[in-house]
Amino acid sequence: MSGSPTSKALDTYAKTHKDTTVVLGAIERHVLQRPDDGDRDMTQLHPSEISKNRWCPTKDYFSIAVPHLAIPEDFGFQTLRIFEEGHDIHAKWQLWLKEMGILWGKWKCFRCEIYTWGQSCDLGPCPRCGHPDPWLYKEAPLSLPSHALIGHTDGVLILPDKPRLLEVKSIGLGTVRVMNGSLYDSFLKGEITMDQMWWRIKRPFAAHIRQGMLYLRMAMAWNLLIGHQIMPKINEIVFIYEWKPTQKVKEFVLTYNEQLIDSQLAGAKAVADGLRYGIAPSRPAWAEERKMDTPACRKCAYRTLCWSTNDQSPPGVVQPDLTAPAPAALPAAPVLTIKRAPAAARRRAMAGVG
Ligand code: SF4
Ligand SMILES: [Zn+2]
Repeated sequence: MSGSPTSKALDTYAKTHKDTTVVLGAIERHVLQRPDDGDRDMTQLHPSEISKNRWCPTKDYFSIAVPHLAIPEDFGFQTLRIFEEGHDIHAKWQLWLKEMGILWGKWKCFRCEIYTWGQSCDLGPCPRCGHPDPWLYKEAPLSLPSHALIGHTDGVLILPDKPRLLEVKSIGLGTVRVMNGSLYDSFLKGEITMDQMWWRIKRPFAAHIRQGMLYLRMAMAWNLLIGHQIMPKINEIVFIYEWKPTQKVKEFVLTYNEQLIDSQLAGAKAVADGLRYGIAPSRPAWAEERKMDTPACRKCAYRTLCWSTNDQSPPGVVQPDLTAPAPAALPAAPVLTIKRAPAAARRRAMAGVG
């Protein structure tokens, strides 16, 4: 390494270095203080979120319509490291597929930052800066404006028989705990080993299946000229699961089945229509049955607003502060939103922590 650290860097280091570790504590503070990528489109729904068990459309409606009431998420160092590892695993698989020449989508020159579209075998040097291989994979942006949905598939694979979408999932103990509680409990009770837990995963988890079906639905609604001969015809998605404890891998292939996402599509449509007309969607049955006494409702930032919108409010609920500034007018449904996928949301989904 050449040169020496600037006094500003040393000053920053000294200010952050106040514990007994040599460097780990300072790294932790550095990571926690890094600005978020801030590229999450908060005006749309995201498949990774609406695929979760017990998704509440009412909550997502409020988070778009009255975002100033939201409680900002605050991730710890461990969670951020999990996100980063999930990101690295994606980059690894996408690089291999790029090298194989079968990855299609949007690419960015890391040097001069221009974009291009195409299959990785056809990319060639950058037409602007001349770099021989500058292309970073920017995936393929998906949307379904009628349902206020946007997202990114992890890849579009041009395979010999037909193209397919790709979804890569890094699976850890936390993923199994969230996605398949009974399998996780068997491990906790010592009935199965960690290896057996992995081998018992015979198909993608239900939330991942729903997410994949939503991506296929969005691919079918593709409305860009570029890719119009590929995307709307795709009806299968390949899942690659990588088991974090040992890096073992397995593959699943699923065909589109709209029945699996009936309720997600209905909920998303209710949110999209609600945003157009200013009407919150009905609360989900699981919340209605228990009159707000659910873990999701108890920690929901919109609880008061939600349960005071009609005479079903349980006793003792404080009326919301309706003097807060009204949200900005919502944009008209875009033809296709090409905004970077919410990296934080994707990483949460990959890590199975949210
Ligand atoms: S309080 Fe419950 S039902 Fe209402 S928005 Fe929040 S999670 Fe949904
Ligand atoms: Zn370039």
